[in-house]
Amino acid sequence: MSSPRLTQIEVRSVLTAQGRSSSIPCDYTINPYRGCLFGCTYCYASRFVFDDPAKKADWGHWVEVKKNAVDALMRESHKLYGKTIFFSSATDPYQPIELRLGLTRALLEVLLLAFPARLHLQTRSPHVVRDIDLLQKFGDTLDVGISVPTDSDVVRKAFEPRAPSIARRLKAARQLTEAGIKTTATVAPLLPGTPKRLARLLAPCVNRAWVDAINFYEKEEALREIYAQHGWEKYLLPVHENAVRQALREAGLSSD
Ligand code: SF4
Repeated sequence: MSSPRLTQIEVRSVLTAQGRSSSIPCDYTINPYRGCLFGCTYCYASRFVFDDPAKKADWGHWVEVKKNAVDALMRESHKLYGKTIFFSSATDPYQPIELRLGLTRALLEVLLLAFPARLHLQTRSPHVVRDIDLLQKFGDTLDVGISVPTDSDVVRKAFEPRAPSIARRLKAARQLTEAGIKTTATVAPLLPGTPKRLARLLAPCVNRAWVDAINFYEKEEALREIYAQHGWEKYLLPVHENAVRQALREAGLSSD
């Protein structure tokens, strides 16, 4: 495995406009970084690395910091009034480097003054709690999605070996909820696990849950190998997704 590579890049814009046919229902996505050191095995974002096949193959081991992102966003913030924003769609805004750089936080400070209609912040990192004071200022405009695709750390390690443990994510989700921040468990992509246990763990930590099945995109061979190695193929059947949705509903968490 190669060691992580960190570089700085300049961008013309950090806003990516989303068309009506986009799979992400929002007006704009914002990504402070390109690449992601969590390197989840199923990550779809590597599909967007068109310019460098080596980088695409090495997804998860490099990150580019958009060093002028704050200036770029300030220049374009007038476009965001009353708009819906997804932050971030192709990187984790709270991967560990964020603790040192504070780029996500600086962008959120700009967004606060841009008055978007809705801001969805998506992460699987407990470092999001660093910004609770700032997130509270968005009020009802904001909801935070914490990715909790399984209740099992064995499963998490197989699919997301460099991402934070499930326990740390749950703790962070609970801290957000207790701070009055709308928090959704994104059970996405749905991974193997025990539906009722997952629902039991999530219920005290989040306001709602959202489920989405795994999509293999360009990684079918590698992902099927993980399922086969562990004898987890049965979790690809619709019965697992249905059981998770049912358990979440019974726990009072909408799964739609
Ligand atoms: S945290 Fe998100 S962006 Fe990063 S590798 Fe995992 S799925 Fe991809």
